[in-house]
Amino acid sequence: MALTGLDIYKLLPKTNCKKCGRPTCLAFAMQLAQKKANLSDCPDVSEDAKNTLGAASAPPIKLVTIGANGKKVQVGEENVLFRHDEKFYHPTGIGITICDDLSNEAFDERLKKINQMKVSRVGTEIEIDLITLINKSNTPEKFADAAKKISEGSHHCIILSSTSVDNMKSALANCAGKRPLLHGANAQNCASMAALAVENKCPMTVTAPTLEELADLAECAKKAGVEEIVLDVSGDNPRDVLQKLTKIRRAALKKNFRAIGYPAITLVLEEDPFQEISLAATYVAKYAGIVVVNNCEPWGIMPLLTVRTNLYTDPQKPIQVEPKLYSIGDVKENSPVIFTTNFSLTYYTVEGEVEASRVPAYILSVDTGGTSVLTAYSGDKLNDKTVAKAMEAAQVASKVKHKKLIIPGLVAAMSGKLQETLGWEILVGPREASGIPSYLKTEWHN
Ligand code: SF4
Repeated sequence: MALTGLDIYKLLPKTNCKKCGRPTCLAFAMQLAQKKANLSDCPDVSEDAKNTLGAASAPPIKLVTIGANGKKVQVGEENVLFRHDEKFYHPTGIGITICDDLSNEAFDERLKKINQMKVSRVGTEIEIDLITLINKSNTPEKFADAAKKISEGSHHCIILSSTSVDNMKSALANCAGKRPLLHGANAQNCASMAALAVENKCPMTVTAPTLEELADLAECAKKAGVEEIVLDVSGDNPRDVLQKLTKIRRAALKKNFRAIGYPAITLVLEEDPFQEISLAATYVAKYAGIVVVNNCEPWGIMPLLTVRTNLYTDPQKPIQVEPKLYSIGDVKENSPVIFTTNFSLTYYTVEGEVEASRVPAYILSVDTGGTSVLTAYSGDKLNDKTVAKAMEAAQVASKVKHKKLIIPGLVAAMSGKLQETLGWEILVGPREASGIPSYLKTEWHN
């Protein structure tokens, strides 16, 4: 069981010396219990207390790092079951498979396609994280050659997948510097695979039919010296996979059950590509640390990356764009001026529709603390004064020769007051951003 703040307090020096940056030992103990402080912040804690508290204050789910030097993927170290309770910290690593039995041409083509898999969303470029090399040939030579090609030809982190320890050893010889995740340890080969992982300082997965056996195997790998373990819960039955993922997260967080306090991986290798992506998205939501798919098409990967991005934003901090005047296209002094809020999703939706209209326009992003149009309006963060302030700060009047401002249709009610405050003609735009292209093409005349 996790120690409470009072349990921890009893083990601290109780001098209230403030060297830890907290006013009292009790305050420090409470923060330690909530995992908001590090034990190392207290320089006077005794060795005995360190031993007891060190284990108790370790994260319930171990952090695992795949990769080295360049790109790294970190999974695990999550504190909550539900995003709104705090936030999720380490986004699920998304991997795509590539098999070592492909012809040279097919292999190079797929690798190139995986490398180029990038999506731009709300102003940020997002991409997959891992390439999973499957030892389908079951030969050490092909596995090793393919590992070399990926190591030299991709910036992504690597998962090597084989149940053969010898084949794994050959492939690892060509990419150990990239610190790949070794995938394929089971009850039969766990000891040898663990020895290989320790020798090369790599993380490894373990797989077993039941959670009890999985815990035993993880313990076996840990005793062999593997620090970073990932639990493989791949399977054909989605209900079974989802149950295992949920039980692992619950056991680690609620019961502090250290034996399975590791992130989990699931390989979702479905024949139906739609089913594959929909299951992968489900596992991203609950609670896979890594999800691997066969699908290598933008239409499949884009929604998966979008689901992950949405889940791993901080629910308490709206994503914002800089509040200012943005020029879309070759704007001139007769170009329309539209305002919206500085909530990223709102802004980029409006920006996308203005771009689609091919009518060069100014978009004034009003600072509403990153809230959407209606939320800001109902909270009085979007009113005639805030819009006037944003217009003045961006010197909109000096950029255009007209005095017309297009406002979101959702806040048509503020048009009268705004016209009075600004002295500009207020044009009520569409309620939905999707109406902007036709509005600009048919309604804007200047
Ligand atoms: Fe207490 Fe240690 Fe903090 Fe001093 S540094 S107040 S002894 S917890």
